[in-house]
Amino acid sequence: MNTQTRTLPKRSPDVAFVPMLAEVARIEVVSPTFRRFTLTGPELHTVADNRFDQRFKILFPVPGADIAELPLEDDWYGAWRDLDNAVRPPMRTYTVREVRPEASEFDVDIALHGRIGPASTWALDARVGDRIVVCVPHTGYAGDFHGGVDWRPPAEVDRVLIAGDETALPAVSGILERLTDDARGIAVVEVPDARDAAALALPPRGVEVRVVVRGDAAVGTELIPSVHAAAAELLDGPSTTTAELEDVDIDAGLLWEVPTDAQGDPLLTRAPFYAWLAGEAQPIKELRRHLVSERGVDRKAVAFMGYWRRGRAEM
Ligand SMILES: Cc1cc2nc3c(=O)[nH]c(=O)nc-3n(C[C@H](O)[C@H](O)[C@H](O)COP(=O)(O)OP(=O)(O)OC[C@H]3O[C@@H](n4cnc5c(N)ncnc54)[C@H](O)[C@@H]3O)c2cc1C
Repeated sequence: MNTQTRTLPKRSPDVAFVPMLAEVARIEVVSPTFRRFTLTGPELHTVADNRFDQRFKILFPVPGADIAELPLEDDWYGAWRDLDNAVRPPMRTYTVREVRPEASEFDVDIALHGRIGPASTWALDARVGDRIVVCVPHTGYAGDFHGGVDWRPPAEVDRVLIAGDETALPAVSGILERLTDDARGIAVVEVPDARDAAALALPPRGVEVRVVVRGDAAVGTELIPSVHAAAAELLDGPSTTTAELEDVDIDAGLLWEVPTDAQGDPLLTRAPFYAWLAGEAQPIKELRRHLVSERGVDRKAVAFMGYWRRGRAEM
């Protein structure tokens, strides 16, 4: 189907995330690891600018199948799931980096990790004009909160700790850009190459950003000791209380805990400390254990997202 002639679906105010056809308008090589894709499309002026760590989904084309043929109605998911494996576009999760409704475009920063997996392979080969489908929060939604933003700190926080690997860097940037000027704390980001710091946004004055470089070492090698050091600086003295944590088998389940209620509101209204940790599951599991079990941080003040696992494709 020609995208120019395709009738745009009518959007329901009851549905928070909807699929939209998007075309690559520009590609910027930001650093050795990061490519920034500017996406445009007839509906992209309606992408909600929620920022922070707003996640969304990308459906990548499979060879020989036209992505523009995919159903774009609000209830697309069942139709996508029912497609034959050979033509069903694989879906991966990314972070909305910057939204420009006036230009009907938004950016996504994709970390390259070789010709492995549909997302990284697509990012290596993509050209201006290539098409994908994005499932994004849209401005026509009538609810208060689209979901998919896991930076949900208590209204009053003294110090923040923000940490992750390169897959979390776009979200860390979104958080740093939207923090208020009086925010205090430390952000630690582990990247493969020192030049990847170019993809990071500037923080408010009271938040120190530490970029740690792991080179060819395993993910988490530099992140873990750096976050331990940052936590020691931000938390007053040794912990007096420790909490038992249930063990999560990161090869079988998902290590993802965001302390909010059913409406997405934080469980605490005030806390001396709030942590947000995202990236490969093994280091995130270790950092969660360190903060909650060894340092006695209230788990209601810590968001953990161990969302990718070495050796395992996103499901
Ligand atoms: C909420 C959320 C937000 C995210 N935001 C971003 C973002 O803005 N930018 C971004 O680049 N990523 C982001 N990610 C991570 C991204 O979704 C994963 O890296 C995803 O697995 C990449 O898909 P793929 O098709 O390339 O590889 P997959 O098919 O999922 O995996 C294939 C193989 O590659 C490995 N692999 C996957 N990712 C990496 C990696 N980064 N480095 C090394 N090996 C890897 C897997 O372990 C597996 O062995 C986000 C993930 C979540 C859940």
